[in-house]
Amino acid sequence: MDDLKGKTALVTGASRGLGKAIALGFARHGCNVAINYSSNDDAAAEVKVAVEQTGTRALLCRADIADRAAVDAMVHKTVDVFGGIDILVNNAGVWEKNSITELSEDCLQKTMDINVMGSFYPTAAVARHMVEHRRGAIINVSSTAGQRGEAHHSAYAASKSAVIGMTKSLAVELAPHGIRVNCVAPGWFETDMSRDAIDADTDNTIIKTIPLGRVGQPVELAGAVLFLASEMSSFVTGEVINVNGGAVLCG
Ligand code: NAP
Repeated sequence: MDDLKGKTALVTGASRGLGKAIALGFARHGCNVAINYSSNDDAAAEVKVAVEQTGTRALLCRADIADRAAVDAMVHKTVDVFGGIDILVNNAGVWEKNSITELSEDCLQKTMDINVMGSFYPTAAVARHMVEHRRGAIINVSSTAGQRGEAHHSAYAASKSAVIGMTKSLAVELAPHGIRVNCVAPGWFETDMSRDAIDADTDNTIIKTIPLGRVGQPVELAGAVLFLASEMSSFVTGEVINVNGGAVLCG
């Protein structure tokens, strides 16, 4: 993946979990990284140090991805500092429990604002820049839930299906501009988001749905994202790569 060297990647939700692993993966392959996050300054600062230790540059971008003006300012600043954006990873998201009989307006709105609008806003801002330069790779983070649904998480599942619909539409719309748009769909990964559910799984209900017999580690998602960002996937667009230990087959 030598072609990644010297490129700039903007990763949303890069202070922790999957986004952090993705940001560090790009840094190890020579990319400058814009690290977006919402509030956790300390965690984001640690990622910045780790990126810089690889010899590349890092930019902290504290911004709520559900706030369009804040996203536009973040993209503008990243372009200003690094001279462009070659790769966008729409990773930040929330996973709220909602039984349909108790669905609150707040949960539904927050899920759609962050997971859906928060993917559209960065994409729209970065795409304007990429179209001008006639190249780019956009990778969206969906979920197993976006394909097969998830009981008690219907708002989340719907938001992640929307991300897949956005991916496929924009792959066709942006292909004439030299921009590829793809998606990764993680299964169970050990992060702050999923830790309580994984810890509570004392009877192995989760593990039994994963043929490889374990949950994933964040670094195991980064490989698929890097592949989709690099020239190794130069003829791949509009795809959803499932990274789930085989879980979608029997979950
Ligand atoms: P996580 O550990 O909870 O980390 C969430 C990240 O998103 C943090 O960096 C957080 O920033 C950031 N964030 C949250 N709301 C934001 C907002 N409004 N604006 C900007 N940044 C925001 O989550 P994760 O497990 O790494 O999940 C990453 C993505 O993978 C999500 O889209 C999730 O739905 C998807 N996914 C995860 C799993 C899994 O098993 N973990 C499975 C399927 C899909 P702060 O640190 O500042 O709070």
